[in-house]
Amino acid sequence: MKITKTETNNGITSHQLEGDTKCPCCSVQLNGVSTDNGQSPRKGDLSVCLYCAGFLKFTGEAEGSIYSLLSEDEFSSLSPTTQRRLLSAREFVKERNRPLSYNRIKVRLPDED
Ligand SMILES: [Zn+2]
Repeated sequence: MKITKTETNNGITSHQLEGDTKCPCCSVQLNGVSTDNGQSPRKGDLSVCLYCAGFLKFTGEAEGSIYSLLSEDEFSSLSPTTQRRLLSAREFVKERNRPLSYNRIKVRLPDED
């Protein structure tokens, strides 16, 4: 994983990523990640896909995908606080994507004459 650009606004730091940034769950390219501690993402850090809300983990590998899917066992072994943070991030993503899914459904409707 290579970070090509970092920018901080209102306490949130955005990092632009290069490499195999496909979500292992939905295959969307996740070429950016935001952190709330000002640090760059590191191996073992956790994230949530902004499209499918899947729980991801940074692999820290130089080759191959920069993300792996967080297994149920891995999730269970996290502290309750971390579990709560991931679950609330997932809820945030689902809320954010609701109008998007609605628009997609609307587009597929046949024309009304
Ligand atoms: Zn995804």
